[in-house]
Amino acid sequence: MATPSPLGLLAELTHRCPLACPYCSNPLTLDAVEYELDTTAWSRVFDEAAALGILHVHLSGGEPLARRDLATLSRAARSAGLYTNLITSGLGLTAAKAEALAAAGLDHVQISFQDSAPEQNDAVAGRSGAYSRKRAAAECVVRAGLPLTINIVVHRGNIGRIGEMVTLAMELGAGRVEIAHVQYYGWASKNRAALLPTRPQVEDALAEVAALRDRYRERIAIDSVPPDYFARYPKACMGGWGRRSINITPLGKALPCHAAESIDGMEFWSVREHSLRDIWLHSPAFNAFRGSDWMQEPCATCARRDIDFGGCRCQAFLLTGNARAPDPVCHLSRDHGMLAKLVDAASPQPFVFRSRRAIDRQAPLMMGIQT
Ligand code: SF4
Ligand code: SF4
Repeated sequence: MATPSPLGLLAELTHRCPLACPYCSNPLTLDAVEYELDTTAWSRVFDEAAALGILHVHLSGGEPLARRDLATLSRAARSAGLYTNLITSGLGLTAAKAEALAAAGLDHVQISFQDSAPEQNDAVAGRSGAYSRKRAAAECVVRAGLPLTINIVVHRGNIGRIGEMVTLAMELGAGRVEIAHVQYYGWASKNRAALLPTRPQVEDALAEVAALRDRYRERIAIDSVPPDYFARYPKACMGGWGRRSINITPLGKALPCHAAESIDGMEFWSVREHSLRDIWLHSPAFNAFRGSDWMQEPCATCARRDIDFGGCRCQAFLLTGNARAPDPVCHLSRDHGMLAKLVDAASPQPFVFRSRRAIDRQAPLMMGIQT
């Protein structure tokens, strides 16, 4: 079967971030600023992405506003013909920056909140004053004429405030709100016991989202995907491995999904040494779980294998140690029972916050490479 063209690019411009969310999807070991891809390299990646058929780019991080060249990068992505979305915590987004980004052709902004309640927001973000700065940033975005989405990550501690979160998003002038249940990779896997909600909490939340969608149908779009651990079937993670999207790390490594580095033994190619087309078509990582030849039973002969592609490879590896196993979210997996045990074992407890300090893990590898 011919390899389909990718649709989306997640550009992790930096791992720097002023916040310390305990569910951050960045890896436990963060990339250091001195080895980040420069403006020229990112601009080339955007051109190659458009030539490969990619339609949209998410400028993400870390906190992408930590990049001084963000407006230049937005302009480069837009000039390449990509729909350009900024994913930001909002900290550092002033009126002048919002206007500069709009003038550079940025299409859309997504601001993340940790909670609708100011104190809880700042406690989870690990920074006092974050909530009010996010509100101010949202006002700047709307005033600059940019469409706004509010994203709020939901967990045991705030899942009871979904109604208030939707109200907050409407107050801020957002056209869309994402109620995003925690995905248990990266820092969230370290904090799983503290973050996992109970089954009754999840059932109430699903009912509340349905009622809110009904009530506000004319005013705001509400996106919410049921949390994995409580489902019977897994999601088609990333729309299938190596089928829809490419994630580039701050250093330039191309990943089939943002958590792919958590799987042992994978070989990732870098945009410093390979074109995006070569990476997409020929790199070992992107080909590792394409199609169905890699699957084990029960996925290999399952009627849903071309619907959910066996679920998430990173989650299968994280929970079973075998990246070819069915995602344990599937009730047909022999490991499915472990999820109920993890949910039962969850309880309120202190968070391990994301580090703000990058560790220079790449220095030996990057010696001699101009950045
Ligand atoms: S999840 Fe929090 S810590 Fe991680 S990049 Fe986003 S704002 Fe920063
Ligand atoms: S057995 Fe595999 S392919 Fe079938 S539903 Fe479960 S995870 Fe999906």
